[in-house]
Amino acid sequence: NTETDYELIGKNEMLPVYIPREKFSHKGTHGHGLIIGGSYGKIGAVHLASKACLQSGSGLVTAYVPKCGYIPLQTNFPEAMVLTDVDENHITKIEFDIDPTVIGVGVGLGKDKATVKALEEFLGENKKPLVIDADALNLLSENKDLLEKIPAQSVLTPHPKELERLIGKWKDDFDKLDTAKKFSKQYDCILVIKGSHTITVYDNKGYVNTTGNPGMGTGGTGDVLTGMITGLIAQGYNPLNAAVFGVYLHGRAGDIAVEKTGYQALTATDVVANIGAAFIDLF
Ligand code: AMP
Ligand code: MG
Repeated sequence: NTETDYELIGKNEMLPVYIPREKFSHKGTHGHGLIIGGSYGKIGAVHLASKACLQSGSGLVTAYVPKCGYIPLQTNFPEAMVLTDVDENHITKIEFDIDPTVIGVGVGLGKDKATVKALEEFLGENKKPLVIDADALNLLSENKDLLEKIPAQSVLTPHPKELERLIGKWKDDFDKLDTAKKFSKQYDCILVIKGSHTITVYDNKGYVNTTGNPGMGTGGTGDVLTGMITGLIAQGYNPLNAAVFGVYLHGRAGDIAVEKTGYQALTATDVVANIGAAFIDLF
């Protein structure tokens, strides 16, 4: 569509967006990311997202998981705080007494009936900035009324299948972007259309990412992106900058990782391990 402005996103575009750390800042000023997700057998998704949130610069991170996630997280990820649902295997009620800066929701959540109900209630009431992924996106696709209730400039991070459920089928790539643009405008949300060239759509503009590689087509890399965008919002990036910069850094971390692992062996954990290198590579 000719009315949409597209920008290719590389290092030069991201340098002015970068927020340096202040000498006298501390964990209280770097924000607190809350990651809500996980179900029996999918606690790793929350581990990846929470770790990525912290390594993107969030001062604190809390993971909200079913009870079965408590021991693995506390054992393998000591920097994270963990809150648990009343249920052993699924999230059934989202209630917490902390005051997070931003919430990333959906990774590893599953589609248990009680989880869907808990999520519906949570999304209907929550006022905090949101990053919404995976099964939380699928719920929004099935219940469009909820899209009216999420805060303005919530960040949605669908992969192609999740995007289709959300905005419907498209004819070609132009139609896809056009439909995405209308959707983003209608619900005032930032749509991160994940793929080999991830495009972030907001306010009639498309930000076309140039980093990343096919090694990243492996389980968990999407969860890492969710955590990274959450971590950037936590420390003060506005949601649009957090989405575009998060996608850039995520791809760059994958590109740095793949030099050592090769495409086949790359894992989401390798992407997390190279978030720091992606920041350093900016300068
Ligand atoms: P998900 O499907 O939710 O796990 O997300 C996969 C993540 O990996 C997204 O951020 C994609 O952009 C990224 N990814 C997958 N395949 C590729 C590829 N061929 N090139 C670049 N990035 C990719
Ligand atoms: Mg995913």
